[in-house]
Amino acid sequence: MYELKVIAHFAAAHQLKMVAEKCENLHGHNWKIEICVAGKNLNKAGVLIDFGELKQHVSAIMAGLDHKFLNDLDMFKDSYPPSSENIAHYIAMSLQSTINSADIQVTRVTAWESEAACATYTVP
Ligand SMILES: [Zn+2]
Repeated sequence: MYELKVIAHFAAAHQLKMVAEKCENLHGHNWKIEICVAGKNLNKAGVLIDFGELKQHVSAIMAGLDHKFLNDLDMFKDSYPPSSENIAHYIAMSLQSTINSADIQVTRVTAWESEAACATYTVP
């Protein structure tokens, strides 16, 4: 298997209920997102997917999150709040459908909400 990783960033606000009291207040993070895609077969250029193409897909997803109040976005709801866990899950699902290739699997997305805390969604 070959695995590629790209890193992207977005800044946004969110509000989480019923976690630590501190999180109940509206606040923001500069999220750092690590995205891994993997596959067995390289194309004729010797790459799994062109980094430029991968980054373009990722940028489009980041643009939908950047400078937003995440709780207000259509993809998040009370039963799917914009925690770092769900953000990682959402990005993984969203990118997989954008890439739309059976040869390239999104394997892991890690959402760093600070330098010291992150959540990873590993695609089963
Ligand atoms: Zn937070």
